[in-house]
Amino acid sequence: MPHHMFKCSECIPERKKHAVIKGEGEDLTSCLPLGYLSTIPGSISERGCAYCGAKHVIGTPMKDVIHLSHGPIGCTYDTWQTKRYISDNDNFQLKYTFATDMKEKHVIFGAEKLLKQTILDAFKAFPKIKRMTIYQTCASALIGDDLEAVAQDVMEELPDVDIFICNSPGFGGPSQSGGHHKINIAWIKQKVGTLEPKITGDYVINYVGEYNIQGDQEVMQDYFKRMGIQILSTFTGNGSYDDLRCMHRAHLNVLECARSAEYICNELRKKYGTPRLDIDGYGFEALSSSLRKVAMFFGIEDRAKVIIEEETARWKPELDWYKERLRGKKVCLWPGGSKLWHWAHAIHAEMGVEVVSVYTKFGHQGDMEKGIARCEAGALAIDDPNELESLEAMETLQPDVIFTGKRPGEVAKKIRVPYLNAHAYHNGPYKGYEGWVRFARDIYNAVYSPLQRLAFLDISKDEIPTDKGFVTRRMLSDASLSEDVANAPGLRQYTGNYDSVSPLREKTYPPFERPSPVEAA
Ligand code: SF4
Repeated sequence: MPHHMFKCSECIPERKKHAVIKGEGEDLTSCLPLGYLSTIPGSISERGCAYCGAKHVIGTPMKDVIHLSHGPIGCTYDTWQTKRYISDNDNFQLKYTFATDMKEKHVIFGAEKLLKQTILDAFKAFPKIKRMTIYQTCASALIGDDLEAVAQDVMEELPDVDIFICNSPGFGGPSQSGGHHKINIAWIKQKVGTLEPKITGDYVINYVGEYNIQGDQEVMQDYFKRMGIQILSTFTGNGSYDDLRCMHRAHLNVLECARSAEYICNELRKKYGTPRLDIDGYGFEALSSSLRKVAMFFGIEDRAKVIIEEETARWKPELDWYKERLRGKKVCLWPGGSKLWHWAHAIHAEMGVEVVSVYTKFGHQGDMEKGIARCEAGALAIDDPNELESLEAMETLQPDVIFTGKRPGEVAKKIRVPYLNAHAYHNGPYKGYEGWVRFARDIYNAVYSPLQRLAFLDISKDEIPTDKGFVTRRMLSDASLSEDVANAPGLRQYTGNYDSVSPLREKTYPPFERPSPVEAA
């Protein structure tokens, strides 16, 4: 597996060790790209900072909380409507952004008074919200403001409020991943065990590393509830602050995104002995085996089996419709961290697309190792790419679509490569059986969009065809299919609703008969 030197980065020779091409039968451990190191000067990274990782990824999905940044207003930008971690309390955490808006004078004279006043103002403006998280930024960390002391002062003044402090300034790690770690550890140290939950079931889990992007958590919660499992807390998508204080009482930590949240699972195991089970909500195979694993832990395999059979029968014909039309399409799988290994094999096996490149912005070498292992030979793996490297890779690999974030995604559009938002999704949720079909549908729509064809024309020099009338995606996708495949009985396009999440909020779940004490023993 040789290292790969981008032409555009020849002036930054250290970059060579951050990219490799997977060869046939390579020993994956001998030549992994370097990862989770500080960005090399001269390379303009697409990474976020450690504050961003703590707040924007992990902290803010908590739904019943005022999320306050103690720093300049610019640090908060990414929270305001650019993320899609929805919640069932009317998206409180998405609608408002709070910051102390520090200026130069605060850097000189200190900003603790400003912080206290902002906390009081925020609680006054939203009297029903009694919980707050405060995030340190570079500016407030450098001047040494004591966030804990200010929060303590407020909690004494307002005894019905509770405040969590996250000291994860932007410079607190090489990337957002440093912030993931810091907020995991801060939460367990400060808050876990400070409240006792009401246990209502025999099987109790924390659902960890799940951020409810466009409703993912609510989809997975539906499966758990159908199995009679109580979700004590979700860390942190659609999660409630007080539920998360009760994490110590779960029987099992079910971990979805290991990159961002394995730390708290490991601490819960050390401190409370709670076992950890890693699962995967993406893809029919991975999801089915995940539901089986959780069920096996509690001895309720029959309940998982019913769900897997029902969901597969409902959605597989639709997944296969897209698979026939996506077979052989090339994709650059360029998400932030763990999705490269959650998705690499699953999209190839279940949707037929070829993963020609994987990259990670903040993943560690372990993420690369898993991602590369799940790719086919020839895939280009890149750690912390800069914009020019991404462009060079796209020009060389000629993907039909890329899955990435909005910054590199907009760059891809300029060279007419369609992109799907791998962080916030397009028309998600993407987890769950139906969600996986929605993902396939989004890929299909991106790859075969007639508008995309028009985008390839240069009106200053290309001949514009005027004799073809309009074309639809179906006309484009089915042109090369045999009659048998194009009209295969039993396969069909997505038939779900535009909004697949809201109905779940209305759903009720019949109780399971509780096992007798003898059975339970
Ligand atoms: S690096 Fe520092 S100043 Fe920049 S957004 Fe992050 S916390 Fe704010």
